Amino acid sequence: MGLERCSYCTAPIYVRLAAKWNDNGTVTGRFAGSTRVVQIYAAELNHILEGISARIGLDISRVVLEGERKAGVLFSSEIMDRLGGAPRIVAKPFSRWVIAFMVRMTKNAGLGDSHLSRYRRGKLMVIECESPFNVPVFAGDMLGAFEAFHRTPGDATWEGDDEHVTITISAASDVKHVSEERLKPVLPPTLPSDVKFMRCPRCGIPLEVTQRYKFDLKRGLATEFQTGKRIVTVIIDSLNAVFAELESELGDEVKDMIVELEAEYVRDNAPAVTAQADEKAVSVLLDDLRIKGMGNPTQVALLATGGLRVRVDNPFSEELLAGRVLGVFEALCGVKGTVQWTPDTDGFTIINVSRTEPTGDDREET
Ligand SMILES: [Zn+2]
Repeated sequence: MGLERCSYCTAPIYVRLAAKWNDNGTVTGRFAGSTRVVQIYAAELNHILEGISARIGLDISRVVLEGERKAGVLFSSEIMDRLGGAPRIVAKPFSRWVIAFMVRMTKNAGLGDSHLSRYRRGKLMVIECESPFNVPVFAGDMLGAFEAFHRTPGDATWEGDDEHVTITISAASDVKHVSEERLKPVLPPTLPSDVKFMRCPRCGIPLEVTQRYKFDLKRGLATEFQTGKRIVTVIIDSLNAVFAELESELGDEVKDMIVELEAEYVRDNAPAVTAQADEKAVSVLLDDLRIKGMGNPTQVALLATGGLRVRVDNPFSEELLAGRVLGVFEALCGVKGTVQWTPDTDGFTIINVSRTEPTGDDREET
């Protein structure tokens, strides 16, 4: 333990150094100021990415890699600019150290136990990772870091399985990447609110963080106590960049797939909170949004029509939240729903779920 953890609440110091829990349902990165992050179940994200692959019958790992790479370049560039433009000023012997540090940092986000095993400045980096959570996502992060640091395009390949993977990143002058400039995320305004976390008097992290998650810093794993599920911290821009990449490559239907897959995951994994499908039960099931940095559900209303309306301030992803609310509705009410939402232009989204009218086929069955 020693200096690695807060002596009062046992939260890892790295977690506090890397992220800041705000009183408005958002969690922001400290290394790169404009970065918002979320905690999400590894299985939830994999369910969506693998689900899209299965539905279209194509391996989407290159598309995911590309989306993640773009966000990785922006993220790493911002960190390096803060460090005073690291790539140019870092003397040769230290560049390996900087890259090795960036690789190790991913352990704190629960992305597995990684280390840099080979490095040739500007040419090659090889990373070994135990328990990777999603290889294309992780490889994309590392590729982005490589490109940002060396100011040169690269490409990534990998070999291995769920337990261990070797990722090789090499400089590649023949890869065509989209200009990073136009990918700069445009963040909607953040609304103030008064989410009141009980905070550790020593380190300031919400006590719920340490009550909820177990951090194994050595293995780069974070687990939710209650469910035993692995949780990962991901940058929201990366998530959205991956979704945007999938949409531009595969079409608009990807949006609907994301909503459906998320709803499916939430519905099938919802804990049995109560027999009563009331607004309180909905609120309980949406309660973890704030601590996970997904947004702040400020209004929950079950409608006379049998539908559900939820307003979420500072939403992290409209599709994932729409899917989540739909999944909660279906789990609680035991009926199918249809979801619509308003785009987040002013810092909030209103999600409307209506009961899906049974079709002729359904009526025959009952
Ligand atoms: Zn503490």
